Amino acid sequence: MARPTRTETVDALPTAYRAAIRRKLLGWYDRNRRDLPWRRRASDPYAQWVAEIMLQQTRVETVIDYYEPFLRRFPTVGALARADHDHVLKQWEGLGYYRRALGLHRAARLLHDRGGQVPDTAEALRELPGIGEYTSAAIASIAFNRREAAVDGNVARVLARLLGVHADVLSTEGKARIRDLAVQLVPVARPGEFNQAWMDLGSAVCTPKSPDCDRCPLQSPCVAATTGQADSLPVRNGKRRVVAVRVAVAVFVYRGRMLVRQRPTGGLWSGLWEFPNVDVATDPAASEAAVRGSSATGNGSRKTRSTACSASDRATLDAIEGLAQSEGVALAAPPSKVGTVSHALTHRALTFEVYECPVGKPSGAGAKRSGGWVTPAGFAKLSVSVAHRKVHTLFVKQSAD
Ligand code: SF4
Repeated sequence: MARPTRTETVDALPTAYRAAIRRKLLGWYDRNRRDLPWRRRASDPYAQWVAEIMLQQTRVETVIDYYEPFLRRFPTVGALARADHDHVLKQWEGLGYYRRALGLHRAARLLHDRGGQVPDTAEALRELPGIGEYTSAAIASIAFNRREAAVDGNVARVLARLLGVHADVLSTEGKARIRDLAVQLVPVARPGEFNQAWMDLGSAVCTPKSPDCDRCPLQSPCVAATTGQADSLPVRNGKRRVVAVRVAVAVFVYRGRMLVRQRPTGGLWSGLWEFPNVDVATDPAASEAAVRGSSATGNGSRKTRSTACSASDRATLDAIEGLAQSEGVALAAPPSKVGTVSHALTHRALTFEVYECPVGKPSGAGAKRSGGWVTPAGFAKLSVSVAHRKVHTLFVKQSAD
C-alpha cells in the first residue's frame, strides 16, 4: 500500500490509503476485540456515557470492577438523577477523580429535567458537565453511530507512529495534526467500532514501550515500523511536573471514636469524608517515579510507638496542634506517630504522616464544625477517598498490634 511520505505536509490522505487502514484495522478488531462489559451495552447511550466517564484517566481493568455495580444501583438517567449525592459518591468510592461522579450526577439531573434522553450528537453532549471532546466523540460514535473521531493519548500515539508525525503530540500544532488525521480516517460505517479498534490496538499492540509491530495489522503502511522509529515516536516535549507534598494527618480519638470532617464541594475529593489534615511541606522537584509508589508503613505497635520526634517532625507536630485548634478539640496526650501512607495523584506525590491524637471530652462546637465522631464501623460506611481509606486501615492495624 502506498503511504504518505511526509505526513506533516499532506493535507488529505489518499482515498485508497484510508480505505485500506479501515479495512485492516476493523478486520483485526473483529478477530481480537476485548470483551468489555460496556461493549455488551453499545446501544444504551446512558451505559456508554457512564463507561466513558469512568474510563477518564482510569485503567480499563479498574473500571470493570465498578461498572456493573454502578449500573445495577443506578440503571437509568432517572435513577441517577433521583439518587442522593452521598450515595453516588459511595458507589464511586475507590475509582478516584470524584469530580467525575459529581459531574455525572449533575448532568443526569439536568437531563432528567429535560425528559431523560441522552443527547445524540457530540456537540450537544459537550454541553453537559464532565463531557469534553474525546468523551463526546466516543459516546456519539459508539451509541449513536455518528462519524466522530475519538482521540486520546493512546490513539495519538498510534497515529503518530503510523503516519510518522514528528510534531510534539502535546503541542497545539501536534494535537491539531493528529486530530485532522483521525477525522480523515474514521469511516461512515462502524465509526464507534473503528474508534474502539484504535483503543484496543494501542492497548494490546502499539503500546507505549516496545510496540509489537510483528503482530500489528498496520505494519506494512506504518511509517515508524518501516523506518525504525517506533521507539522514538510519538514526540512529547512537555514533561509532567510532579510536586511532592507532605501532609500531617490527625486521627483525633475520644473513647474509641475518631473525628472526621467532610471536604467542601469542588476541588480534590469533593464532598468525601476525611481525617483532619493539612499540607506541611511541598517539593516541586519531585521525580515522576516518586508518584508511582503507593504504600502504607506502620511505625510500630501502640506499646512501642514513640512520641518523641526528630527535628523534621517538628513542623508536622506544630501542624497537628493547629488542626486541634481549628477543629475545636484539646489534646489530652502528645500525638504519637502511627506511620506513613503514600498516595499518587496525577501531579502530586502525597505522603501522609499519620498521628494518633487522644483528646479530652469534645465540645459540641468541635464536633459540629468537623462533622462528627465515628467508630471504625461507622467510618466504613462513609464515602472516603482511597488515600484516607488507607490511612484508616493503617490506623486500625497499628492500634490493634
Ligand atoms: S506497526 Fe508498530 S509502530 Fe506501527 S502502528 Fe503497528 S505497532 Fe505501532
